[in-house]
Amino acid sequence: MFFSQLSRGGAPAPPGPLAGKKLWLPPMSDAPARALAAVFRSLGVDAECTPRSDARTRELGARHTNGDECYPTKVTMGDYLKVLERPGTDPRKTAFLMATGQGPCRFGQYLPYLRSVLETLGYRDVTLLSPSFENGYSDLGENSTHFVRSGWRAIVSSDILRKLLLKARPYEAIPGAADAVHEECVRDLCRVLECNHGGYGAQMERLRECLLRAHGLFRMLPRRNGYVRPLIGIVGEIFCRLNTFSNEDLVRRLEEAGAEVWMNDISEWIWYTNSEASRMFRLQGSRYSKTALAS
Ligand code: SF4
Repeated sequence: MFFSQLSRGGAPAPPGPLAGKKLWLPPMSDAPARALAAVFRSLGVDAECTPRSDARTRELGARHTNGDECYPTKVTMGDYLKVLERPGTDPRKTAFLMATGQGPCRFGQYLPYLRSVLETLGYRDVTLLSPSFENGYSDLGENSTHFVRSGWRAIVSSDILRKLLLKARPYEAIPGAADAVHEECVRDLCRVLECNHGGYGAQMERLRECLLRAHGLFRMLPRRNGYVRPLIGIVGEIFCRLNTFSNEDLVRRLEEAGAEVWMNDISEWIWYTNSEASRMFRLQGSRYSKTALAS
């Protein structure tokens, strides 16, 4: 396994399909995507989030979708095509992470659709990595257990940092202070996640320390006391809810207008997709797929 490879002192070999490639992750939500990229780096993968979405994202996305797709398709497509048009990008050394899952929506169509657009544009050599519960995360070979465990910890930890930010920012006495602390905590989290700690127990202890540091930093932020804001809950579609480019920074706008905001997070969606996959397996007379059990 991954940790035993590292404990022998060597850097882990990147999982087969990613050897010698740069893996790009779509930043549905900035901090969780960066934390997940750090987990991939701990596996020896050269991983990074796609550059910030912009007008070119929308232009490229619109050019290769027809409007029937949901908006997240357009944004993700645009961000990935933007990477490919960067000077010096070699499709043979490029991989995109495209999660997939079962559920009552078009999310499961993203992967085949992206594949078909890339083929049409002549980017057949780009690798699409799609670890999922259904295939037991088998794309990652022997590193699948490390990916699942550390990836889950990365998501939960970054969700906690978002909650701390949402509680602190509306009441900050110094404009920008909560964002600065959040950024410092995300960097701290990424440093913890991309290191080898010699085992999952030690990794958990470092993560616990990291989150306690974050809690302490947020608590030290100067607050405007005696100031109560109406609390607004944000629910709805996960990508547009979390992606600040897609929702035009809705949370910050509400805060600027005098509200405190609370929103459900990414962990909830992962619970949902996993329970939905389990439900499908049960309908087929089993509890897990063979590949999921093997990982
Ligand atoms: S829930 Fe999200 S991914 Fe699914 S169809 Fe709607 S916008 Fe697309």
